[in-house]
Amino acid sequence: MTSMNKPPPQMKIRDRDAIEDEYSLQLPHFQMLAAQLNGKSMYRSCLNCLFFDETTEQCKKYKLRPPARVIWQGCEDHKDAFEIPF
Ligand code: SF4
Repeated sequence: MTSMNKPPPQMKIRDRDAIEDEYSLQLPHFQMLAAQLNGKSMYRSCLNCLFFDETTEQCKKYKLRPPARVIWQGCEDHKDAFEIPF
């Protein structure tokens, strides 16, 4: 192993078993979130909504600039700009 391949001394590599344990603890939360999303995208925001105009930063549906909270998480009328129609 060359010095280029070695991690910096302050970087700790996490143990695979610890990562798997942590994941198994998180799994029920992911499953609950998936059930709540009910097939909707987890990455729903105004930035990936068909109605958002990035030039004016306004929602074309409501003709307003959405509040930061809505920009971050989208609203019920979100339409996925990258949706594949089949
Ligand atoms: S997510 Fe809602 S508020 Fe945001 S651009 Fe789309 S329709 Fe407008």
